Amino acid sequence: MFTLHDLTIKKVHDGLLSKEFSALELAKEFFEYIAYKDKEVGAYLTLDKDGAYVMAEKTDIAIAKGEEIGVLSGVPLAVKDNMLIEGLPATAASKILENYRAAYDATVIEKLKKENAVFLGKTNLDEFAMGSSTENSAFGITKNPHDLKRVPGGSSGGSAAAVAAHMAVAALGSDTGGSIRQPASFCGVVGLKPTYGAVSRYGLIALASSLDQIGPLTKTVEDAAILFNAIRGKDEMDATSVDLNLESGIWNLEKVRKLKIGLPKEYFVAGLDKEVEKAVQNAIDSIKSLKIEFKEISLPHTKYALSCYYIIMPAEASANLARFDGIRYGSRAKKAENLPELYKKTRGEEFGAEARRRIILGTFVLSSGYYDAYYAKAQKVRRLIKNDFDETFKEVDIILTPVAPTPAFKIGEKTEDPLSMYLSDIFTIPVNLAGLPAISIPVKTELPVGFQLIGKPFCEADILSLGQFYEKISI
Ligand code: GLN
Repeated sequence: MFTLHDLTIKKVHDGLLSKEFSALELAKEFFEYIAYKDKEVGAYLTLDKDGAYVMAEKTDIAIAKGEEIGVLSGVPLAVKDNMLIEGLPATAASKILENYRAAYDATVIEKLKKENAVFLGKTNLDEFAMGSSTENSAFGITKNPHDLKRVPGGSSGGSAAAVAAHMAVAALGSDTGGSIRQPASFCGVVGLKPTYGAVSRYGLIALASSLDQIGPLTKTVEDAAILFNAIRGKDEMDATSVDLNLESGIWNLEKVRKLKIGLPKEYFVAGLDKEVEKAVQNAIDSIKSLKIEFKEISLPHTKYALSCYYIIMPAEASANLARFDGIRYGSRAKKAENLPELYKKTRGEEFGAEARRRIILGTFVLSSGYYDAYYAKAQKVRRLIKNDFDETFKEVDIILTPVAPTPAFKIGEKTEDPLSMYLSDIFTIPVNLAGLPAISIPVKTELPVGFQLIGKPFCEADILSLGQFYEKISI
């Protein structure tokens, strides 16, 4: 029987210290459980038993020697397959990278290796992180562990499903427009998108470089704080990363009570699913019971966020994906008469439909004659969206909103209609455009639903602290 697989980071650490189990036993149990459970969920693309056992033994040796171990030492983690772990595949769920193996470690991986964390394997995603359901993967669909007929959300659907189904203690995902928070909401786990620049993007296969951030998917807010603290910080390999003296650690209730929370009227509109409305209202009521002040606020440019994102993101994606040309990376078309034909065939055959759609959109909005009308204008609108947040944060410390307009939808429900798929990110995208930190925290409901706390730049401590208090009172 499986007894260890549903532990949190904190409990694994305690169990290792009290010698209830060894790190190797723990890793073995996870692989046994994955062999049984992942047949139905399909969260993983690659498993790395050998690598995991080597890492687990490091922890066991340290404990046997009486050395102190860090809180992540020996903890089994899953990693979205768009981050590089040296020697392992990194497919980004695309055929074009099917046979690619990472030549180096992403900075987040390097940091976690120093902590002796254990990597169980790489998880499924929408191709190049383009999507909201993990249905755009070239290697199969991941299912929502709470209801196998439904999607786990996306694009970090594999990581969210792995944590929700207890096939990993925690996981890493990436978030460009909601890809950590929306699957966290759909799968009933916690997902944190850090402030842009808080975590290095080196070794993350880029979707849209001015929006992408790596962050944790975990079972508790406390675990999210632990993992975030381990991966954050300035990295000379990512010029956009910064070192800030971020506050960490748990706050007391008195300090949390001083936070003011804003409820933006534009985010509580008709069309919001009843279940979501109820769940978010429950969260608001619970937080109110802590005697925290709420205030209605307005973010008037929110209504342009989706349009703005679907210009900026494809523009950056089309530039980033230009490197996949059949020469420098990944697969190559078998037959071609000349170089331009080789490019065309490789890219035409190996990219999936959504990747092709975004490359075409992005190339169009950047082309001369259209650049000013679309791309330059979208950049100006982005500024207005950011200004809304800056103004609001003069009055409140945290903004509370839904994560997605609906709970997890059925597999296949939105695949024919890209626009309705894009709409599922309506509440998460403004946060990426403004570069802010935000967390999705599950509300206890039948089908999982999360609520979102958005913080001021580099104030992860605010949302993590309030989140931890919410968790305590909602159990
Ligand atoms: N679902 C959004 C998109 O398709 C966000 C993706 C992401 O955050 N990686 O672009």
